[in-house]
Amino acid sequence: MSSLTPRAVLTSLKRLSHPPRSFLHWKTPLDLLVATILSAQCTDKRVNIVTKTLFRKLRKPADYVRLPRLELERLIHSCGTFRMKAKHIQELCRILLAEHGGRVPRTMEELTRLPGVGRKTAAIVLYGAFNKNEGIATDTHVMRLARRLGLTRQRVQGKIEHDLMQLFPRKEWGRMNALFISHGRAVCTARNRQCGKCVFWRSCPSSFVRGKRDLAE
Ligand code: SF4
Repeated sequence: MSSLTPRAVLTSLKRLSHPPRSFLHWKTPLDLLVATILSAQCTDKRVNIVTKTLFRKLRKPADYVRLPRLELERLIHSCGTFRMKAKHIQELCRILLAEHGGRVPRTMEELTRLPGVGRKTAAIVLYGAFNKNEGIATDTHVMRLARRLGLTRQRVQGKIEHDLMQLFPRKEWGRMNALFISHGRAVCTARNRQCGKCVFWRSCPSSFVRGKRDLAE
């Protein structure tokens, strides 16, 4: 396992960057939920372009439900897997109206019962919109960095999240996603890890400067 302690990792990441709560643009919990669903297999930049128009037209669950499916698909087309995303968004908006008074629920259990909403999406919404630390949004950057830093040996998303939740204090769970993404995008990139420029190069068990193999592979 890593000679890097979770505390040291977090302290360094906090010094390196001050990312926003979310890289997605949103004003309401529903905006954040929709934007996070759209961000699956899509860049945050592309999602922010799409939602600029989308959120001007559609503000409440009823707006999404009333819109013809084809029109919603057209609006979100460039985010990819648009048919599935449009279906999930309309179905979950129907459930919000029928079961939650038109509001986005505030618990992991209720959120993950909605179509198209897994723990990652729910954790992002709970932290971003409600300031609740109920999980660690474990996306591709978090998974890669956690493995490279030796914080987990797991490969499956849920198991990696579980390991990280054991290692890091709950009050940090929400902000970890943006901190890991910042480092994952700037230095510890998927294809070309830049260990020579990395603050962790002396102790990271994947540091190629020290002749180590990439533990994320
Ligand atoms: S030393 Fe290399 S592998 Fe380790 S975190 Fe830094 S960039 Fe990633």
